Amino acid sequence: MGVDCFVTAFLAMTLPASYSQHPTSNFLPSTSYCLLPTNSMKFSPNSRGIIRLPFVEYGRSVLGTPLRYIPCRGKCRLLVMAGIHGEEPETTFLLSRALRAFSEPFDDISFILCANPDGMALGTRGNANGVDLNRNFKTQNFSAEMVGSRSILEASRDTLLSPGTFAESEPETRALVTLVEKLRPSSVLAMHAPMGCIDAPRKTAIVESLMNAFNLTWLPDIGYKTLGSFGTWCGERGLECVTLELPRMSLEHLFDRYGMAFADFLERMALR
Ligand SMILES: [Zn+2]
Repeated sequence: MGVDCFVTAFLAMTLPASYSQHPTSNFLPSTSYCLLPTNSMKFSPNSRGIIRLPFVEYGRSVLGTPLRYIPCRGKCRLLVMAGIHGEEPETTFLLSRALRAFSEPFDDISFILCANPDGMALGTRGNANGVDLNRNFKTQNFSAEMVGSRSILEASRDTLLSPGTFAESEPETRALVTLVEKLRPSSVLAMHAPMGCIDAPRKTAIVESLMNAFNLTWLPDIGYKTLGSFGTWCGERGLECVTLELPRMSLEHLFDRYGMAFADFLERMALR
């Protein structure tokens, strides 16, 4: 057993018992799981530290932060979006790490590394106005009533946020809507955490490919109402939205376990 394996085994033994009792406990590092550099071999030392793909501004946040995306070269077929919830930095982190495997823009896949940069900088789920952007879209079921979220997965909905005083009240939401309407992708992959599942109404080719890449379960329904969500907004427009809920896991474990798999998934999607 190497040093890293020993450390991982030790951490697994010392984690609270409640961690392993949770139904979504596939985040728990197994005792045989080791942090090995092999998964990162595709990322050369000269490239693994930077994203070499060009960014284009598509709007500004509440605090004036540029909202940026990585455009594809041709017609956009898939848009991958991370970081709409500022408390889920692992989505931005994993997408960033995967993108470092590529030196050229994709022909038909565009990327948003962080749809809520102010929330990410503040460490808050919502944006700088305290609005949960993923409840701020103009859907038939939009409601201006406060929306509950969990401060940790095991907690009750102990945190209340505004979905905005009206639909698309927030500049981040409006900019994203404008971008999606401009790109007109066939599918969107929205990254969230830490539920450890793939949420999509139908088991499409993207869903099956994600299930293989991440070894996660497909859920046709997340099991609770998401009024005014981006997924609902997409659904009402006939746009496929697949939600990838990353499992609860440290950043380095996420990269080690999924960095290469995610890069390979993107490559497969591009070759379809
Ligand atoms: Zn989220």
